[in-house]
Amino acid sequence: MIQEDVVCSFCGCLCDDIRVETNDEGIVKAKGACRLGSSKILGHGPGHGRISKPMIRQDGELVEVEYQVAYDRAARILKAAKRPLLYGWASTVCEAHEEGVLLAEEVGAVIDSTATVCHGPSVIGVEEKGLAGATLGQVKNRADLILFWGCNPAEAHPRHMRRYSSNSTGRFTPEGRKGRTVIVIDVRETRTARLADRFIRIDPGTDYQVISALRLILAGKAEILGDEVCGISKGKLVDLVDILKKARFGAIFFGLGLTHSRGRYKNIDCALSLTAELNAHTKFMIMPMRGHYNVAGIGQVMAWEGGYPMSVDYSRGAPYFNPGETAACDLLARREADAALIIAADPASNFPRSIVEALAEIPVIQIDPYENPTTLLADVVIPCAIAGVEVEGTAYRMDGLPLRMRKVIEPVHPSDEEILKEIRESARRLPDDH
Ligand code: SF4
Repeated sequence: MIQEDVVCSFCGCLCDDIRVETNDEGIVKAKGACRLGSSKILGHGPGHGRISKPMIRQDGELVEVEYQVAYDRAARILKAAKRPLLYGWASTVCEAHEEGVLLAEEVGAVIDSTATVCHGPSVIGVEEKGLAGATLGQVKNRADLILFWGCNPAEAHPRHMRRYSSNSTGRFTPEGRKGRTVIVIDVRETRTARLADRFIRIDPGTDYQVISALRLILAGKAEILGDEVCGISKGKLVDLVDILKKARFGAIFFGLGLTHSRGRYKNIDCALSLTAELNAHTKFMIMPMRGHYNVAGIGQVMAWEGGYPMSVDYSRGAPYFNPGETAACDLLARREADAALIIAADPASNFPRSIVEALAEIPVIQIDPYENPTTLLADVVIPCAIAGVEVEGTAYRMDGLPLRMRKVIEPVHPSDEEILKEIRESARRLPDDH
């Protein structure tokens, strides 16, 4: 059987033109997907590290149990905790996110997403400054200048350049790559940089100074600058501003190279300001290169449910948000979280070592289709269907466009949404002082 226009559930590009071929064994082909997308779409069988049965830890060993036993154990852990943390959410659909917020309210938890360790500073920067945004469709159809800052789509988002940005052809961009100027600013010469017309290498941690210099030049105050800014000649920066001003429609894409270098959310604040100021001369937009396929979606759901896009504390009975205090790593670093539910994420691989050690000291519930290093820390492991392959639902592309994910094959396991609902119902049945 062939299914057309399937949405890929790997990265924030959410390519919605994948042709999936299935037979009695499952998915056999994912035509059009890049290597990252193919590995996700084809990786649904038991040979891909799928967890087959729910498990709970007894005497140090994980032993298989029925789903209801795992739900009840998870509910008891969360209900008994004084400061439970619900973390992850980037690789599941918005219907599961909604259940997550309800569970956070039920047990008085802090709910946080993987954005806290990736584009969290971008989210804060956008809250401070606002975002001159656009859709990827507008970029494809209109942009004649693409600037990649601190990101490497050629390797991290393999179809971004061909489908949406530098190499795509659109209604007003029929020449594709030939009709576009592509600029890369980064601390090293990445594969994307080698494909660009112009590569500007900057010293690590100098993004803020370089963006500020560009803003000064744009404001007509270049004389304030010395001959060099952080190792880049003033002439080169003046040239760059000239190129940016001459664009008909410019698009700036930024990645963790900008978000996580010195300055963090202030870098983003500065880049958003530069974009807003460029709009006094021509049309410009800016967009974070979101990684996991629905990390943008959990931000949307948390914002519409509780008013804040991440790190939301429901322990007071009303949502409270203060990154630096309520982010997952903050709670764990202070040894404040005393239980954690991890869903659609692998913090044992991504958190700093000291934070992973803190996670290892508390009861951990894992909901995931696959075994990963977090499984080694978990006290309750609940296998789920793969959202976006075995479960339909909504996901938000990196530009904020919601897309409907398809169910391509029948699942063996319950969905994240069903599992969370069962845990919440089990928690509701427990007395408050159990
Ligand atoms: S670029 Fe991203 S969304 Fe598109 S096919 Fe590759 S992994 Fe999937």
